Amino acid sequence: MKKSIDPGMHSAEHILNGTMDQLFNCGRCFSAHIERKKSKCDYHFTRALTPEELIQIESQVNRVIRANMKVTDTCIPMAEADKRFNLSRLPDGRSDEIRIVSIGDYDACPCIGTHVSETSELGTFRITTSDFKDGVLRIRFKLNR
Ligand SMILES: [Zn+2]
Repeated sequence: MKKSIDPGMHSAEHILNGTMDQLFNCGRCFSAHIERKKSKCDYHFTRALTPEELIQIESQVNRVIRANMKVTDTCIPMAEADKRFNLSRLPDGRSDEIRIVSIGDYDACPCIGTHVSETSELGTFRITTSDFKDGVLRIRFKLNR
């Protein structure tokens, strides 16, 4: 995780990942490219999303943003994290504890990045485009802040 990453965009990535996994049970994105103006996330998937589903994702993410949830972090023992989270994306050379970042009671995942402190800082979430190819669903998004 680069330190220069935009905290707002990166926090939106957390909410989008939580939403995708909740709606489609597809897990969190396996690859992400986060920039201040526009970002993209890639998911292992079996098909393209319908326009209705894209709207559903957008509205659910925006509901979380507007609910102004607090973004908090806590450190838990690695053994406990192993049971609760998929740690396969973590680099090796782990320590005994791991930092878990929570967005209200909506989403929680291990992360070392920088986040906003409240979701209302994110403005409005918009999916710009989405496409599907070779088992990979790509979602491009931006924030109107
Ligand atoms: Zn994060």
